[in-house]
Amino acid sequence: MMLFTLKDSPIDTLAFNQMLQADAAGACAIFEGRVRNRNEGRDVERLEYEAWNKMAQREGVRIIAQAVKRFGLERGFCVHRTGMLAVGEVAVWVGVSAPHRDEAFAACRYIIDRVKAEVPIWKKEYYTDGEAEWVNCHRCAVHTDSADSSAARYARQVCLPEVGTEGQQRLADSRVLVVGAGGLGSPALMYLAAAGVGHITVCDRDTVEVSNLHRQILFDTQGVGKKKTRLALQRLEALNPAVELVAVDQPLTAANVEKLFARHDLVLDCTDNFAIRFLLNDAAVLTSTPLIAASLYQYEGQLQLYDPSDKGACLRCLWREPPAPGLLGNCATAGVLGPVAGVFGALQAVEALKFLLGFPESLGRNMLLFDLRSYRARLVETRPDADCLVCGHATPLHTLYADASSESVEVDLATLPAHQRKEFTIVDIRERLETDSDPLNELIHVNIPAEMLLNATDVLDTGQRYLLFCGIGYRSRILAELLRQRGHGNIYSQRGGIAGLRTGT
Ligand SMILES: [Zn+2]
Repeated sequence: MMLFTLKDSPIDTLAFNQMLQADAAGACAIFEGRVRNRNEGRDVERLEYEAWNKMAQREGVRIIAQAVKRFGLERGFCVHRTGMLAVGEVAVWVGVSAPHRDEAFAACRYIIDRVKAEVPIWKKEYYTDGEAEWVNCHRCAVHTDSADSSAARYARQVCLPEVGTEGQQRLADSRVLVVGAGGLGSPALMYLAAAGVGHITVCDRDTVEVSNLHRQILFDTQGVGKKKTRLALQRLEALNPAVELVAVDQPLTAANVEKLFARHDLVLDCTDNFAIRFLLNDAAVLTSTPLIAASLYQYEGQLQLYDPSDKGACLRCLWREPPAPGLLGNCATAGVLGPVAGVFGALQAVEALKFLLGFPESLGRNMLLFDLRSYRARLVETRPDADCLVCGHATPLHTLYADASSESVEVDLATLPAHQRKEFTIVDIRERLETDSDPLNELIHVNIPAEMLLNATDVLDTGQRYLLFCGIGYRSRILAELLRQRGHGNIYSQRGGIAGLRTGT
């Protein structure tokens, strides 16, 4: 017996009553919704229910399962009619059994309210005067109190010829992984949830900081200090309860990323971290998972789609060489205007919906470069590199990341014994402007700005261990990870940077 059943013939309520029997159940509550002969002043002759079967089934099961968990039910079922019904017939039957009556009543009420609000079933009333009307649609357009109905929720996009009910069902059946719930991830996640993408996995390890709030619109002041995934799930659940949401707050590594990708139809790279960006790219190529990546720099950004069926360029085809000067900056160091992140997160959502709906127009092999100061936008065609380590040679992840994962890239000098400290050559990778105004007087060191170090790795002695320092340990970690990916296993980053060294944290 299914928890939620759609039935196109009369409901045998006695048979369903039998199923509520459970020895631990001290109370059963049953609700029967019936077709009545009048509605809003008009004489009703009969009713017709139409459902999006697959989606209705899934939503119904979800609601019952939630009720069982929430109220500690022994049993819980709902049966909903479809097709034509006469006056007096049972249109919907809800039955629950629980240890006590309070839970039974509350759960029964909860189930029927949520089924009415969230399951995509439409009601057409036929009146004695010969007219007929789709009741829920009309009502939803007029009354905000029933705006939760799926039909009304997606009405403005379903009426697009490229979407329609079929497209809406495609979105409901889609599974999207969004890595990063920050400036890009916030709008992308909200638009995907609002559009009715059926399953969304949110991956982020951070807690909300006050400096995030100017661009990370999923969060508010009260959320500072709390886990981003938890808050994101709360916000998205409130936005659209029909979406199945999963949070991942483990770090993504070469060991777990492929498994995670395999469970999704599409991945959005909403991170601002070069090391993760490469990992996502490599996993997308090796698992043939489409990937939509965006990145930001101050007032501009870029958007790229990796579609395995199109055999276009991957990130590694473009950035085998060191990133161009300036691109190592992230929001923390380079700065960004909040809505610039918003625009690119929204563009990722647009491209994602187009992709899931199978639009013929897509970014394809082009990279979009968009400068929001001048509003100059360019599409640059990217070319796959036959020699690319991942898309050209399918180098497995464990080979690509063997060096990077062999030893932690971060160390804290203060916690090391003296003989180990001496082994490190200290490198301050900050820019000249920073080192002039705030020199690292505490340690004997050399100054090699990040870009210079990336472009001249031959200065690195393979027999030597290097410990990189920057302001807060962010740039140095990314740089160390990049250098390790390129074979320099002897590079480390000071955890917390100079700030950490000085405060002893
Ligand atoms: Zn490639």
